[in-house]
Amino acid sequence: MTVLLLFFSGIGAFPARADVLTVKVGVYENAPKVFTSESGKPSGIFIDIIESIAKSEGWDLRYVAGTFAEGLDRLTRGEIDLMPDVAYTSDRDKLFAFHKVAVLSSWSQIYAARGSGIRSIVDLNGKRIAVLERSVQQETFNRLTNGFGIQITIITASDYKTMFERVARGEVDAAITNRFYGLMHAKKAGLEDTAIIFEPSDLFFAATRNDPKRLLNSIDSRLSDLKKDSQSEYYASLKRWTSEEVRFKLPAWLQILGLVLGIALLLSLAGSFILKHQVDTRTRELRTSEQKYRELVQNANSIILRWNRAGEITFLNEFGQNFFGYSEAEILGRHVVGTIVPESESTGRDLSPLMDEICARPEEFENNINENMLRNGDRVWISWTNKIVKNNAGQVLEILSIGSDITERKQTEEELDKHRLHLEEMVNERTVELKAKQTELEAANNKLKDLDRLKSMFIASMSHELRTPLNSIIGFTGIILQGMTGEINAEQRDQLQRVLKAGKHLLALITDVIDISKIEAGKIEAYAEEFPLDSVINDALSELKLPIKEKGLEIGVSMIPEKIILKTDRKRLFQCVLNYLSNAVKYSEKGTITILAEEKGDKMQIKVTDTGIGIKEEDLSRLFQSFIRLDSNLRMTVSGTGLGLYLTKKLATEVLGGEVSVTSTYGKGSTFMLSIPKNLRNKTDQEILPQ
Ligand code: ADP
Repeated sequence: MTVLLLFFSGIGAFPARADVLTVKVGVYENAPKVFTSESGKPSGIFIDIIESIAKSEGWDLRYVAGTFAEGLDRLTRGEIDLMPDVAYTSDRDKLFAFHKVAVLSSWSQIYAARGSGIRSIVDLNGKRIAVLERSVQQETFNRLTNGFGIQITIITASDYKTMFERVARGEVDAAITNRFYGLMHAKKAGLEDTAIIFEPSDLFFAATRNDPKRLLNSIDSRLSDLKKDSQSEYYASLKRWTSEEVRFKLPAWLQILGLVLGIALLLSLAGSFILKHQVDTRTRELRTSEQKYRELVQNANSIILRWNRAGEITFLNEFGQNFFGYSEAEILGRHVVGTIVPESESTGRDLSPLMDEICARPEEFENNINENMLRNGDRVWISWTNKIVKNNAGQVLEILSIGSDITERKQTEEELDKHRLHLEEMVNERTVELKAKQTELEAANNKLKDLDRLKSMFIASMSHELRTPLNSIIGFTGIILQGMTGEINAEQRDQLQRVLKAGKHLLALITDVIDISKIEAGKIEAYAEEFPLDSVINDALSELKLPIKEKGLEIGVSMIPEKIILKTDRKRLFQCVLNYLSNAVKYSEKGTITILAEEKGDKMQIKVTDTGIGIKEEDLSRLFQSFIRLDSNLRMTVSGTGLGLYLTKKLATEVLGGEVSVTSTYGKGSTFMLSIPKNLRNKTDQEILPQ
């Protein structure tokens, strides 16, 4: 369309007379669109066009001069009918009426003093900008600058001329005008255009609200006719007012070229403006993110270290600087070896072999724990995570190491290790001690066994030596008591009877002691022989005939089966049975003593049950121990050694190869049990057997 501006014709419009309608038109200073010429006549594109229309429509035009703002106010109040050069906005649409075919298309552009350096919108930050008061530009420009986050100071002026003068005087930095005004006046005023253009707008005549004079439809229809005809007054006017400056200086082809170039320049400036804006935004974003990253790295609670192929430190964050005790300036460029890696820990300052190694097995290098060194020489343990930065050729460029201090943990671990070691030592020591004690104990035990055996042998032989004289005492006392050596008086009889009783008790005691000692010394051997069990029971009962008769006790014997033949040591079995039976008699005042013999597999079970005094439960476990005599009202009257049950258990278990047990109810009676193998092998048999 701009190109179309160049085609023009000088054909005027024809008058079409009707009723004369007076139309008041506002005029203000905005050359070349509308202005007052030096001769005082309203001039400009809008004036040409409205005059052309007025001629066709038969309107009588009256001009009212003032500023743009005044013109708008007048239009609002209905003091004028038309205001030229008004850009359409929805706000203005509420106040005024607009026709539809645009008179001109324009845009706003910023003009600054020549050499101001203002190229793009961001260059306007902090600048004072002159804007036409109440113009649409002011509004749009505010929106635009707000969108860019740019701070500017807006200074309003009533007309463009004043604005350009103020820019030229340096009172403001730039001014916003429409492109037509700029095109005509900027150069003269010593200003230059900037690439900042915005707000393309269509310009109209604005009429009083509701268009009471019905002017707008006429304007539209006349205007479209004018625009259709390239020879019309419309194009003539455009030519007159916009090419005036260059008309006589340049040939037409150059004008076309200039215009084309101008458009291209405009487009490229607009493009570069957008690009610059994008770059600026992107730069800001990058700067923010870099700032964030920097803060993160510097404030991290970890050591962040970078070092190059040569081993030189290229970066250490603040945390790391504080940790190792160096300032940034002190540590940068220093070799890691001798600075943070103790020289003794390293293979040397040439790290190339290490770098090659890292290249081959980067995963092994990724995490490691090292003993490192602070500036003051203190050693610390650091757990490192390493990231290798390579160039395109795959060579190691740099290593990024992130470390955390684990010295305390390491110390605790070491302490723990020490304790563990100490504990192990202690356990070992104790084990050795224990073993020694055990050996000692075994030795002592063996010694004790020896001593016990010796004691038993001693008692056995001593008892034998005691028994011989005791037999003499008992024998001869019996003879005297029987009166074989002459008469004895009552007192002598009584005393001799006591001697006899005591002698017998002593003999029984000695006999038991000898037997026990012999067993304990391993001196009693079983002599197995075959015999019927009832013979043993009968022999024992006949020994006790007298006390049974005296106490009036009943005896019951039952054998299952009736005839039982045993092969065992008869003498020792007899001792056991006699002991059980004599106890049953001794500790029963009345009732029945029952003997029950039963075969249980290859075992013979013999039970002696009485209806005597019974035994308290808590005493039962002590019964088969030596020298145990339980408390009872019979204790003083019944003689006993407290060795009977002990001996029975020894004989049953150690000689006859069986076992003993007891059940009892206190006050009701007891059952003593003996279980032995029916068939006892002689030692000689056992020796023969394996062959
Ligand atoms: P004693 O020579 O005293 O009878 P024993 O070793 O034969 O020694 O018995 C130990 C103790 O067991 C006895 O003193 C007695 O208190 C108790 N005793 C043994 N047999 C019986 C029984 N049949 N009834 C009640 N008490 C018994």
